[in-house]
Amino acid sequence: MVPFSKKITWLVLAALMVMPLTLSAQKKVQITAHRGYWKSEKTKDAENSIASLKLAQKEKLWGSEFDVHLTADNVIVVNHNGDIEGIKIHENPFSAFKDIRLKNGEKVPTLDSYLKQGAKSNTVLVLEIKSQDNDARSIQLADLCIQKLIDHKLYDPSRVIFISFSLAACKHLAVVAPEFTNQYLNGELSPDQLKEFGINGLDYNTKVFKKHPEWVSRAHELGMSVNVWTVNKEEDIKQMIELGVDCITTNEPLLVRKLLNGNEIKSK
Ligand code: MG
Repeated sequence: MVPFSKKITWLVLAALMVMPLTLSAQKKVQITAHRGYWKSEKTKDAENSIASLKLAQKEKLWGSEFDVHLTADNVIVVNHNGDIEGIKIHENPFSAFKDIRLKNGEKVPTLDSYLKQGAKSNTVLVLEIKSQDNDARSIQLADLCIQKLIDHKLYDPSRVIFISFSLAACKHLAVVAPEFTNQYLNGELSPDQLKEFGINGLDYNTKVFKKHPEWVSRAHELGMSVNVWTVNKEEDIKQMIELGVDCITTNEPLLVRKLLNGNEIKSK
């Protein structure tokens, strides 16, 4: 018969062996709604609408992502593509878009109207600076966004993060707003390369992390944040959770919530 004290020793050893696995599996993850939480009856599937931001806030999601472009007369509008109903945003004044309605009947949101709603809860605003016609214009858009955040009292790294496919915009943000999370989207640069540019985060497509799973731990070693887009399938969500990303950007926030099984960082 095994003495009681030995049994205890074995139990403690077994617990210590299991503990690191349990701890890594329990890492808490942020969920960001991609273009807001738009996939719902309540929003009539209107992406980048104020309603989609409101729903993300109501669900207490950690973050709500949205895209911005600059009109020819320097109004910042919230829209994914560079055109709205075929009218190019960069080449036209804001007045060209004032009569256009989203699927749910809303006007095309300006950054002002978006930030007004954004200020009403602590869901983090994940602000994507869309690449403009040239680097100078992308940098101008980044600067105008910063001014708007100041105007709306949202110039706060705990309330807003920046993401962009424009390397020029990310490099610029690293200089003018270094205290903010600033994640590069395009996927071709390693964490070490981004770090050299002063960029402190990466937000890459699922395919990139499948090809370079080591970039997640390397980014963490360098003190960088890791976000992934746009993760909608159950097997991909599980794989990204396993990899240890910090944030999952998704069109299916409630599915990610379910799979995280309580290990979710919600908005405060
Ligand atoms: Mg986007």
